[in-house]
Amino acid sequence: MPISVSSPTTRKRKILKITDRLLHRFGKPKRIKQSSLLDALVETLLSQSTTDHNRDLAFNSLKKTFSNWDEIADAPQAALARAIRSAGLGNQKAGRIRDFLRWLRKDREQLCLEFLHHEPDDFAVQYLTRHKGIGVKTAYVTLMLASNRDLFPIDVHIHRIMIRLGIIPEKTTPEKSHPVLAPLIPKGRAHELHMNMLSFGRTICTARNPKCADCDMRRMCSYYKDRNPGKSKGGEIHLTQKQTSP
Ligand code: SF4
Repeated sequence: MPISVSSPTTRKRKILKITDRLLHRFGKPKRIKQSSLLDALVETLLSQSTTDHNRDLAFNSLKKTFSNWDEIADAPQAALARAIRSAGLGNQKAGRIRDFLRWLRKDREQLCLEFLHHEPDDFAVQYLTRHKGIGVKTAYVTLMLASNRDLFPIDVHIHRIMIRLGIIPEKTTPEKSHPVLAPLIPKGRAHELHMNMLSFGRTICTARNPKCADCDMRRMCSYYKDRNPGKSKGGEIHLTQKQTSP
């Protein structure tokens, strides 16, 4: 049975409530200072399908092996793949990083993204995603972390939780969820919600066997309600309206 999705007004209220509950559970996440937008972008590319620890090992190895971004852009793909192997998918990630650097150098005549700090969100996202190897999530993560933007990146884990909570329809892909969710995120709290949702997805709302008994969002969760009819009566928010667009 498809998971039910609530109305736009309800969803906005619901996301505010979720943000508050997660803040109460996990606290306010610290912002880690990034040295540059390009560093943040490459770290984000390295982070695909690996742990934060292995991503950091790969990034540090990259910086130790090569003395600057131009050297990395000109390096043979195999040498680049060796330097970042601790992050896994070495060849694929090496190709993506090198292609992006070459594209950027051609477009800007230098390997630097700091000019994006002075551009509006839409321009910055569109600029990064003009390169075919950069998706909306990668652009959002980079700008959220290194440019302090109030953008809410949606990875597969956040996507799963948002579907379970009835915020987005099941058929909405993570990529297409960004414009759907953007107007619903409480102002100034995108970073906090993103980081806390990642913690929530790792510890409670896991991909397999979510720990619903430990979750204080059962009463607003479509997934839980669909699987436990009758148990969620009396919740603060009642989800009755089904629809597929915001
Ligand atoms: S009730 Fe279960 S499925 Fe719903 S948000 Fe909580 S852990 Fe996830």
